[in-house]
Amino acid sequence: MSIDAIYSAFERAAEQPLESAKAWKQTHGTRVVGSFPMHFPGELAHAAGCLPVILQENHEPITVGHGMIYPFYCGFTRSVVDQACKGDYDFLDAIMFGDHCVQVLGAADVVRAKLPNTRVHFYQLISSMSDPWSLGRARETFLNLKEGLEEMIGHPIDEEATHASIRLFNKNRQLLRKLYDLRRAGDARITAKQMQILVKSSMVMDKAAHNDLLGRLLAEIEKTKAISQRGMRVYLSGHFCQSPKIGVLDMIEECGGIVVDDDLYHGQRYISTDVDETGDPLDALAKWYLERNLKVPCPTRVDQNADWENYLLDAMERSRADGMIVLMAKFCEPHMYYYPEIKEAFEKRGVPHLLIETEHELNSFEGLRTRVETFLEVVKRQSAARRIAA
Ligand code: SF4
Repeated sequence: MSIDAIYSAFERAAEQPLESAKAWKQTHGTRVVGSFPMHFPGELAHAAGCLPVILQENHEPITVGHGMIYPFYCGFTRSVVDQACKGDYDFLDAIMFGDHCVQVLGAADVVRAKLPNTRVHFYQLISSMSDPWSLGRARETFLNLKEGLEEMIGHPIDEEATHASIRLFNKNRQLLRKLYDLRRAGDARITAKQMQILVKSSMVMDKAAHNDLLGRLLAEIEKTKAISQRGMRVYLSGHFCQSPKIGVLDMIEECGGIVVDDDLYHGQRYISTDVDETGDPLDALAKWYLERNLKVPCPTRVDQNADWENYLLDAMERSRADGMIVLMAKFCEPHMYYYPEIKEAFEKRGVPHLLIETEHELNSFEGLRTRVETFLEVVKRQSAARRIAA
């Protein structure tokens, strides 16, 4: 299988996640469990014999969903509501939500009302991450989720099956992180679009099938020598529940940026942390939930030990990035609240960054092009000045 054919397989799943899940269900006869991002432990649904699929914003204009949710909600929640209203989720056996912001709560109510015949469960994860009771409360929530899944399948989830699912999901994260390492080191040319479809397809495909394709991709990449690239090394940050539009990613690279790293949910945030493969699986998942916020801090969580702006400054240094582009989904409150701290920290340190606000309805990127070109020019001059001063 050629590299192009492998990427095409990933892209089909990433771009048509519901179609891909439907086809999997028809072929394999498995139940499909849809979930909200960003903290859902797909391992449990997998151990229950289901295909876990993280619901995605789609590219369709929001029409019937308009009347059901505020127009000042983020594109992700509006799109999910629109898909529910249009019947796109009717084939799902369950939808399992985890809360992480007010807009998700609003969207969950509409989805529940629109799908009276679908099992819609809501699990409230503790958002305070560093209290003495945080671990116990996270475990309790995952226990509730496990019981909800068991009620659906009609029997207990086998502990060994859960360990096997954890190993499979860890393997998937490790393979994806390897691709990130190769790209960061300049040993593989993986565009921002390609990286996004690799991670996004992992959110919706069967993990064993995904691992198989990733293994083939790595084998092909290792056979080829990466061609060295000229351009400004760019770090992408932000964009939580929805994937950045491919047009924005392509435009950044067309303007001379080389995306070398990110903390996007459809990126490092999703794959940052492995689950302990030994001991009680629920303990391990609760620990994973708390640890991943230290690996890549999330502004929807409160953690005394995590600091997103310092994390980003360090991450930029590690990836030798010249500048950072913050992608902010319009009306994403957690991001809007936190961004001023990032701005202040970056300005204080003299690290260049550019904020781009994106929205579901954004279809033309030309207005952004000039801003990105100007930003990259500034980054180029600052890097040159730093080199001369050193
Ligand atoms: S965290 Fe942001 S992008 Fe995610 S649902 Fe909430 S507002 Fe939307």
